[in-house]
Amino acid sequence: MSRRPVIAGNWKMHKLQSESAELANAVMKELKDIDKAALPEVVIAPVYTSLYAVNKALTDCGCGKVKMAAQNAFYETQGAFTGEVSVEMVKDAGAEYVIIGHSERRQYFGETDEMINKKAKKILELGLVPIICCGESLEQREAGVTDSHIASQIKAALDGLSAEDVAKSIIAYEPIWAIGTGKTCDSDEANRVIAMIRNVVKEVAGADSADKIRILYGGSVKPNTIVEQMSKSDIDGALVGGASLTADSFAQIVKGAM
Ligand code: PEP
Repeated sequence: MSRRPVIAGNWKMHKLQSESAELANAVMKELKDIDKAALPEVVIAPVYTSLYAVNKALTDCGCGKVKMAAQNAFYETQGAFTGEVSVEMVKDAGAEYVIIGHSERRQYFGETDEMINKKAKKILELGLVPIICCGESLEQREAGVTDSHIASQIKAALDGLSAEDVAKSIIAYEPIWAIGTGKTCDSDEANRVIAMIRNVVKEVAGADSADKIRILYGGSVKPNTIVEQMSKSDIDGALVGGASLTADSFAQIVKGAM
């Protein structure tokens, strides 16, 4: 089974509207000479307040080479949830993907496996693609519980989803100790964990979904790491933080995944 690679840029809490539109335009400019069919699926995730501006930049360009994700969304449709933004709302602003369960959201904002599961269901119900993050802390890795921890995160996130919905989803394996630290996980080890995740998907949703689901690696991905990472059997792309904040390095990562 050949899976289309995905390179997703998580801009985290960076950039005002004009800066976000500028970066989106700069990414498209970097990719302008590449045929769309040759590219991986390229996704950028600005902050909520920049969704409209980035969507406008992507739509005005009309090249269709870059898609947009929200960095989060709430599972309720509307109501008394001060400060939250629903999946309907990010869809309305042009997002086609939503990142959920990022370790920063789990750590600083109390996002639980149960919330991530509710978000995944709502995202899929509305025809968007969830990018479901999972990963172990350094303490968990050193205690030898990496695989069991990640398997339980994945089982909880996918609970109650149809095999078809699982196949459409994207998972990002992001060891917490590799995020923003410059310490990339060894590619063979990342591939081993991702193959383990694919086995968990097979267990809960069947072989076809396990073959189709894209599983990305995230954690200090850089232009000089991506080629080796993409050469591994089970790594289908990357979720990129820091290196997605400049068009040049993000585009180099995109090209390295071709
Ligand atoms: C991330 O934000 O998901 C991430 C992997 O960040 P970085 O690439 O900076 O480690």
